Amino acid sequence: MNLPDYRYKQLLDAVFRQHTIRFEDMKPLPKELRGKLIEQFGETVIGIKAIHHEKSTQTDKVLFELPDGNRVETVGLFYKEGWNSFCISSQSGCAFGCKFCATGTLGLHRNMTSDEICDQVLYFMQQGFTINSISFMGMGEPFANPNLFEALRDLTDTELFGLSQRRITISTIGIVPSIKRLTKEFPQINLAYSLHAPTNQLRETLMPITKTYSLDLVLDTLDNHIRQTNRKVFLAYIMLKGINDSEKHAEQLIELLFRHKKYLALYHLDLIPYNQTTVAQKLTPPSNKCIQAFCKVLHGAGISVNIRTQFGSDINAACGQLAGTYNNKSEKGETKMLQEQEKSLQWLLCPVCKNKTRVKIRDDTVLEKFPLFCPKCKNETLINVKQFNITVIKEPNAKT
Ligand code: SAH
Ligand code: SF4
Repeated sequence: MNLPDYRYKQLLDAVFRQHTIRFEDMKPLPKELRGKLIEQFGETVIGIKAIHHEKSTQTDKVLFELPDGNRVETVGLFYKEGWNSFCISSQSGCAFGCKFCATGTLGLHRNMTSDEICDQVLYFMQQGFTINSISFMGMGEPFANPNLFEALRDLTDTELFGLSQRRITISTIGIVPSIKRLTKEFPQINLAYSLHAPTNQLRETLMPITKTYSLDLVLDTLDNHIRQTNRKVFLAYIMLKGINDSEKHAEQLIELLFRHKKYLALYHLDLIPYNQTTVAQKLTPPSNKCIQAFCKVLHGAGISVNIRTQFGSDINAACGQLAGTYNNKSEKGETKMLQEQEKSLQWLLCPVCKNKTRVKIRDDTVLEKFPLFCPKCKNETLINVKQFNITVIKEPNAKT
């Protein structure tokens, strides 16, 4: 819609300063224009619909429905000190299938558009909340969604959301090309790398992406990020009982981090007790005593380390517990539904070498301009996917 500059400014003022989301309520705009906006965009500026709320002390988990019926979850965390933080999603589902994560069992439904990503923030703004910080720790892998960068542009635009880069954190399993792009385009945005294991061998069993981007390759890329930005990088380590929580693992972790000693002072390690989900019932968190002992070994080696407990786990709103389902489904029903969804998943085959990639799709998966990296032939192809049909937009050859 072509609006004169001053009208566009009035519209932005209504949305971002007055927090008015219904076009009908934007009184500074003439009635006729309000009518046209409603005709084109619907009743409100927010294109996603909140269909379910779950509140507990200090948290509010909202289930949103996207215009095509796909679902994502967003969590508001309200700290006693008066700080509001929002954990937002970037994809409906996720393709990477990390063994401990509820979202991973869904497979990837689709990337969210940049507007849908930002609408999650807008929703809380219009409810009167101050947005102090946001983290991409909801559903999905932000760096596998090319729309992320447009969303970051809007979130940091002073005429729109006006968030400073330092108030935004991106959590990633380590998608190297996107980390490099962030370093260039948004150097002040905080990065958190989901490490979760001290060796490639162990990490591969938990996070298949490790075969594509090894621990040292990602840490080298992060070293470079630190060199260029002088910003602290956060490392997340989920503690899983009997899997990655022994003294030997702590020693291996020290070895790994000491290979990146030059920048060690700017790495901070967060130890996170595993949040139990209904999808990986065999996994459990270690005892507090064990986590503390692990922390002590790392601390003793001079590593900046903390134990991070999260609130929200009582309503499945903590990291890794987001699966886009209603809470009124019984756990059994939820598990069955997820198992059925898993059955309908298919591997995406590399258009170049025809081998399986690490991405699974469903019949309702829609991907646009998706950068598909093949771990076998190491080519990156740009593809569209709809109803299992793959269209290649750009053939390689961006070797990473
Ligand atoms: N895809 C991104 C961001 C979303 S997940 C990533 O994986 O980094 C946000 C964080 O929650 C990540 O650190 C992820 O590893 C962690 N997480 C996933 N499942 C979890 C679980 N069950 N318990 C604790 N943390 C979990
Ligand atoms: Fe996806 Fe992150 Fe969950 Fe892995 S941990 S499946 S990358 S959301």
